[in-house]
Amino acid sequence: MIIEPRIRGFICTTSHPTGCAFAVQEQIDWTKQQPGFDGPKNALVIGSSTGYGLASRIALTFGSSTSTIGVFFEKPAEGKRTATAGWYNSVAFRDAARKDGLYAENINGDAFSNEIKDQTIETIKKDLGQVDLVVYSLASPRRTHPDTGETYSAVLKAIGQPYTGKTVNVQTGEVSEVTMDFATEEEIDSTVAVMGGEDWEMWISSLENAGVLASGAQTIAYTYIGPDLTRPMYRDGTIGRAKDHLEATARTLNNRLGGTGGRACISTNKAMVTQSSAAIPVVPLYISLLYKVMKEKGLHEGCIEQMSRLMHDRLYSGNPLQLDDHDRIRIDDYEMREDIQSSINEQWDTVNTDNLESLTDIEGYRSEFLKLFGFGIPEIDYSADVDPEVT
Ligand code: NAD
Repeated sequence: MIIEPRIRGFICTTSHPTGCAFAVQEQIDWTKQQPGFDGPKNALVIGSSTGYGLASRIALTFGSSTSTIGVFFEKPAEGKRTATAGWYNSVAFRDAARKDGLYAENINGDAFSNEIKDQTIETIKKDLGQVDLVVYSLASPRRTHPDTGETYSAVLKAIGQPYTGKTVNVQTGEVSEVTMDFATEEEIDSTVAVMGGEDWEMWISSLENAGVLASGAQTIAYTYIGPDLTRPMYRDGTIGRAKDHLEATARTLNNRLGGTGGRACISTNKAMVTQSSAAIPVVPLYISLLYKVMKEKGLHEGCIEQMSRLMHDRLYSGNPLQLDDHDRIRIDDYEMREDIQSSINEQWDTVNTDNLESLTDIEGYRSEFLKLFGFGIPEIDYSADVDPEVT
């Protein structure tokens, strides 16, 4: 069938298998051109099908020949409905790894559940014995707690008082003001239950108890800080509370793993167009300005450049980790540079619907967004008939 993008708000409900495979291969090819590194032998990547998790897996596999198991929650094609982009990405990744003689296994299901943890442990036991690295890169709107059966939703709200800020409708280019309500205590707790560190800790406990976490193993999760512009609705909002919890969990896990020479850490990554970040008001406008300024200064990076830098230059460089005063790795260092942020600040008050195209990289944002779903890639013939069913 002919597959076209169908955009509904901040999500595209169709994905293109050939386009997704092309975008994955592009990241693989880029990685192969970089110097290799001496990384982990075996890694588990939780949230491995898109965004930072996918890029982590590619950086490890093709930068260091790491055997990986990837866990994700994606939908296969059904009738006229295409599979989700993460499904196509994961098939393309697995095929490319195996073609190079590298181990890659995919596990599709709810990472928050006991069943998927058990299935993953069985796969590690059967195929790898143990893992030396666990990457935790989940971004989810909800979580059903495996012990209580209660379902929590993550909400994007300010805390203490409502927040009004500038935002953009990426599709129409309309710049407007958006007001975010402030969260109740229950909503804050619920967001922390979804995006905080409890599930990460449960994964590490399950892996330890099953004896599949190697002595000296490392684990890493991802956070975001960002500038003052996004602070009221991101870092000081509900999602920021969840990130505080995730970061506190890293300290707890670090104490536990430290006994065997292992460690748990947090990497602060750059703001990036992904399926998750597209859903956050204000952020797409900030990213459009950020991309413009970073491209002009020759500092622009995508997920793969970030994850390559994280694995190669930081985690597996052989040098002591450089951490900030909250024990975080900072690969948002270019984003947060004084010159980058002051350029964005200068433009923020001026940007409006009329000057959006010239002042920001909204075009770059749009094409990155389409590419997340395998669309807008010049090398792909979108008029060609394609089978949406890829297994
Ligand atoms: P993403 O939406 O691209 O990826 C999310 C992944 O989680 C996918 O693989 C998806 O399948 C998986 N997933 C979601 N729910 C699941 C479930 N129940 N079971 C199994 N898998 C599930 O997100 P992303 O932007 O790459 O975010 C990953 C992490 O990086 C998050 O912690 C996020 O906060 C952090 N981060 C993102 C940015 C950014 O700008 N995008 C910046 C810094 C840090």
